Amino acid sequence: MKREKVMVPKPRSSFLSVQCEKCGEKTVVFSHTTMDINCKSCGEPIAQKSGSNASILGKVVGTLDQ
Ligand SMILES: [Zn+2]
Repeated sequence: MKREKVMVPKPRSSFLSVQCEKCGEKTVVFSHTTMDINCKSCGEPIAQKSGSNASILGKVVGTLDQ
């Protein structure tokens, strides 16, 4: 019996450009970040880890394709 090739779906990950709602500073955040990310300018949290995905707390202004 032949072993079938299992298709493994590639995780669709991308980088998001997130704008801090407090000071407007833009930070590039990995969409599946496993870390909490704070604004580098004012320290406001802009992304939080949540399971396999990240919750973006700031305003997503764009995506950066790899
Ligand atoms: Zn900020």
